[in-house]
Amino acid sequence: MRTLKAIFGKLVSDDKANSHKILNLLTLSGAIVAAVALVSTAIIEPHVQALVVIGVIIVAAILILLTANLLNKPLFAAILLNIIFNLFLFPYMFFTSGGINSGCPLFLLVGLILAFATVPRKKIAAIIYCIDLIGPVTALILGYYHPELIETLDTELAATADVLVSLILVSISLSVVYRYQGFFYEKQQEKVEENARLANAATEAKTNFLSNMTHDIRTPMNAIIGYTEIARKNATNKMTLLSALTNISVASEHLLSLVNDVLEMSRIESGRFELQCEPASITELIDKVETIMRPEMEDINLHLVIDTSEVEDDTINCDVLRLTQILINVLGNAVKYSHPDGHVYLSVAQKENAAIDSIMCEIKIRDEGIGIGSDFLPHVFEPFTREKTTTVSGIPGSGLGLSITKTMVEMMRGTISVRSESGKGSEFIIRIPFDVPTLVEYDTAEELMKKYNFEGNRILVVEDNELNCEIVKEIMQEVGCEVDTARDGTYAIEKIRLSPPGYYDAVLMDVQMPLMSGYETTEIIRSLDNEKLANIPIIALTANAFDADREKALSSGMNDFVSKPIINSELMSTLQNYLK
Ligand code: ADP
Repeated sequence: MRTLKAIFGKLVSDDKANSHKILNLLTLSGAIVAAVALVSTAIIEPHVQALVVIGVIIVAAILILLTANLLNKPLFAAILLNIIFNLFLFPYMFFTSGGINSGCPLFLLVGLILAFATVPRKKIAAIIYCIDLIGPVTALILGYYHPELIETLDTELAATADVLVSLILVSISLSVVYRYQGFFYEKQQEKVEENARLANAATEAKTNFLSNMTHDIRTPMNAIIGYTEIARKNATNKMTLLSALTNISVASEHLLSLVNDVLEMSRIESGRFELQCEPASITELIDKVETIMRPEMEDINLHLVIDTSEVEDDTINCDVLRLTQILINVLGNAVKYSHPDGHVYLSVAQKENAAIDSIMCEIKIRDEGIGIGSDFLPHVFEPFTREKTTTVSGIPGSGLGLSITKTMVEMMRGTISVRSESGKGSEFIIRIPFDVPTLVEYDTAEELMKKYNFEGNRILVVEDNELNCEIVKEIMQEVGCEVDTARDGTYAIEKIRLSPPGYYDAVLMDVQMPLMSGYETTEIIRSLDNEKLANIPIIALTANAFDADREKALSSGMNDFVSKPIINSELMSTLQNYLK
């Protein structure tokens, strides 16, 4: 039942033109009705001629369905349907089943409707309709002048019954087409409306963005213009001049940070934002952030209390620039929305993480400032939202900082949350998992041998660069592996395809190769007929060490990922999960 439903769903799926769906629907219902007729005729009154006609209808219907869907030639199938039914089957039925005094004229009518219902292009449909006409017109004229050619039905009752059955069958098939036509139309209408809604939402977002930007750019611009004028008028008054210049500098800085935020946002939205991870000291990074924030904090006599006592692995793999930016954004807000003479607390703690060689960093930034009202709290991370405008609060801002911060945190596979109470202060909690570089990075051959023994395993190294290939081969041989090599993806596929299942225990796959990339090669290997061969562990070796590449490797079907230049211990600990 489920398979039938799936087949039906495919026959009327949205990617098909309406005429194609109607063609499928009509042919399918025709085939079903004919199949029922075949069984009932065989049981009630087995008449060879009738059985042959019905059989031909079923075969024709199947042929048409296959042509339209498997060969994907709906136009050809529609023409076939029209020709078979109008020029042969219905006229034949007309002469063998009672002519004008039976239900046949009703079928002739259905036949003539087929052209416009199933042929997609109007002009072709009109031509087919004209050709279709030849069948019924010839049948009617020939029947009129040569009535002896028609096999009449035996009794008046038989004729009436035939008309009745034909009436029911024809009306049902026309109703089905009519209903479905309406149904397809409604579905299309819904889609159009949904697209229009999305387009409107995008336009609205753009309009909001522009009006927000215009307002936010105007504010510092007005200040710059205004204070420049004051400076010009007070060129001889040093105090006023200095104060005007200071204000100009503040407004310019704000303008610059606004432009930077917008650029950052558009970079994120256009997908041109990639993390660049490298080993870095978390405590040094915090020191740097403190240095950057100090002048601003000293201005209002704010004290930054830093606690890194729960840092266990100081060196982590991270995008230093982005992590610094995250901390400065949140810390900047803590300072901006704090009262003078208060405290801001920054703590970093490291917790166990499920993944090996990875640690969960929990960074908390707490202030005792104005806090966030419960109404606004759920919206703090939305772009361009602020609890109070600059005009009301006197605090400059664009409402973009936290939105950018959240996106960056999430790109690092982390989370950010906030606890806050109006008038009491806020606490932002950022949790990000970081990889911890293994300390024993360059183990010697003897050290490797002591730690890992992969004797009895055979590895296929797929690498186009000869030198790299030699290096990997040597490392793997040192830990007891038998190593075979392939100089590109095509060779690798052949070697694996022709090998007995289990011959290779794992594949180390370079990603960038000239003829076929490692991703494509993996996809082909994963689609091999032999399940065991198709599921062979494949580990990517790549110089592109960003998250996006890792995800690409995994989504192409690779099991794991080791970055180049190869760190022996990293390669071994990864392989350990896949080898005997
Ligand atoms: P901006 O600070 O430029 O307005 P953000 O996206 O950084 O934009 O913050 C959005 C809003 O969240 C701010 O306008 C402010 O209302 C609120 N907010 C953020 N951090 C704090 C904080 N530490 N204390 C109080 N309110 C905050």
